[in-house]
Amino acid sequence: MPQTVKKQPAKGSNVVRWIVFLFLAILCCSFLASMMTPDGPIEEVPLSSVIARANDENGDIAKITVEGSNLKITLKGKDRYTQTSRKDPSGTLYEQGLIDQCAEFNGEELSNCQAKYPIIEYTEVSSFWDYALDIAIIGIPIIIVIFFFNSMMRQAQSMNNQSMGFGKAKAKLYGPDKKRVLFKDVAGNEAAKQDLEEVVDFLKEPKKYEKLGAKIPRGVLLAGDPGTGKTLMARAVAGEASVPFFSISGSEFAEMFVGVGASRVRDLFAKAKKNAPSIIFIDEIDAVAHKRDARGGAGREDEQTLNQILVEMDGFDNDSGVIVIAATNRVDMLDKALLRPGRFDRHINVSLPERKDRLEILKVHFKNKPIDSSVDLDALAAKTAGSSGADLANIANEAAITAARERHKEITNADLTEAFERVAIGPERKSKVMNDNERKLTAYHEAGHAIVGHVLPDSDPVHKVTIIPRGHTGGVTWFLPPEDRSYKSIYELKDILARAMGGRIAEKLIFGEDAVTTGASSDLKHVAELSKEMIVEEGMGKQTRNLVFPEGDMGYYTIATGKPYSEKTAELIDQEVKTLSDEAALRAEAVLKANKPILDKLAEALLKQETLEEKDLEPILRDAKLPASVKLH
Ligand code: ADP
Ligand code: ZN
Repeated sequence: MPQTVKKQPAKGSNVVRWIVFLFLAILCCSFLASMMTPDGPIEEVPLSSVIARANDENGDIAKITVEGSNLKITLKGKDRYTQTSRKDPSGTLYEQGLIDQCAEFNGEELSNCQAKYPIIEYTEVSSFWDYALDIAIIGIPIIIVIFFFNSMMRQAQSMNNQSMGFGKAKAKLYGPDKKRVLFKDVAGNEAAKQDLEEVVDFLKEPKKYEKLGAKIPRGVLLAGDPGTGKTLMARAVAGEASVPFFSISGSEFAEMFVGVGASRVRDLFAKAKKNAPSIIFIDEIDAVAHKRDARGGAGREDEQTLNQILVEMDGFDNDSGVIVIAATNRVDMLDKALLRPGRFDRHINVSLPERKDRLEILKVHFKNKPIDSSVDLDALAAKTAGSSGADLANIANEAAITAARERHKEITNADLTEAFERVAIGPERKSKVMNDNERKLTAYHEAGHAIVGHVLPDSDPVHKVTIIPRGHTGGVTWFLPPEDRSYKSIYELKDILARAMGGRIAEKLIFGEDAVTTGASSDLKHVAELSKEMIVEEGMGKQTRNLVFPEGDMGYYTIATGKPYSEKTAELIDQEVKTLSDEAALRAEAVLKANKPILDKLAEALLKQETLEEKDLEPILRDAKLPASVKLH
């Protein structure tokens, strides 16, 4: 586990913060209070004269409000009032009679009185709620202000932490005493491990190489898809050599202020040198080291970070004992400066695991999990072509979770299958109830895929068909490649197009020409993408055989199309793409028409059993016919 050291904010700064709040709060209070209370000392005037001034049309008083024992006097042309007490210091009311002229009256007499003294208003004696309101009026803004300042202070503080406490907080250290990873924990990847074995040897016995004048490599670049175990292998190098492992990710630099990335690099290298021999691991180095000309040039910050990495690596002594391992899945995107001799001059490719490696990886991840005798890891390895080590680790974990949820004592093969499908397509939606119509439609749709795929000679065998919805799909038909292949022929690709069309065509045959549904949209998208790829990238068009139309760095563009070919060519490409998908639809239709009884039988079986495995499919599909018209060769 990474050992991270976080900088704790000092206790003292909290006290300072609260003192500042208190000060601000008092400031606010007094400001608000001054808004609401009389301004300046008031000269003492007899109440009688105030009332007289109020009753005089040319007087300067607009209104007198009597509120319990208080008088609020509003002057003409001002909306603030002056407040005074009607009590003398001994507590008796001043000139009671005068002020309360109307208070003794009620009914008609009251209105007469009020008409006579129109500007004197009586309000309820100030109650609890008045005080509450006063407090709220003063208090709420203060609270808001406090929150505002509080969050501002916090932000400022965290920015401080980020920019001042860098490096220590973010670089992770896997020391030799932490959970060690060894080469035996990395399954497969034999070639890469062999190359790294050498690095381990450098770290263990640098003298051996120096004596012979050999330069110890400074940088090793691991290139490969995400999840193929690059981090794992870098850790294994540290583990095998028993040296500390410092790791940082290129994407972390992206969130930093200008200059911080560079100084963090400096700090990281300084720490690594102090602990030499050691390993620095930079994950996702492409995040800081992408080509300066790509995408309009790297940002200033990225460039500074990258330069700092280069400066540090150039400054290495031969015997500094620090080896930098970087990982990327985009070697083509890397700045050339990074790949020069003396920098990351050793490249190790890490590829997606092949079948036997997948089995090894699965074994590693099931090593400490109880599995029962039904579990067939080899079969799982067979159907996970294209999965990375991380995907397989994920399947193993999901299988354990599934088993625990089902209260199994040991992981069963069913748990494993569910885990695989969950990771491959998304969790099963058991709760989504399909109505009978939808179920029938889905059954015919999937049966269509399965039959076309089964009948066409260059398609992979059907492995499983289900109408249980998963993820976004209504049902799924799986085809299994018998082995991993690097090349596909045009016949195979055309069969893939046709079987993808099989779903919609089956719906059409059963429910009619115009009963098109949205159920086939992902199939159609697949057809569109694959046929475009065949034309544009693989030179598989009828009229454009052996011609490709790359849109990348061709260096010139025609203005009309914005692409490196003319409008005429664009039209030709569209035509060729349409030819391919039309042909696929026709072939699917021919197959399904020739095998209508089997289509019905398969759909029925699906409606009854929901999921059919190879052994259930075999008796149904055995007699399917291949119409001569769909043969390609
Ligand atoms: P990368 O750095 O290439 O993106 P990681 O090294 O982070 O991939 O791999 C993620 C996880 O996948 C690892 O922690 C490990 O559990 C699993 N894994 C990947 N490749 C292998 C492998 N060859 N053997 C065992 N486990 C692997
Ligand atoms: Zn489909």
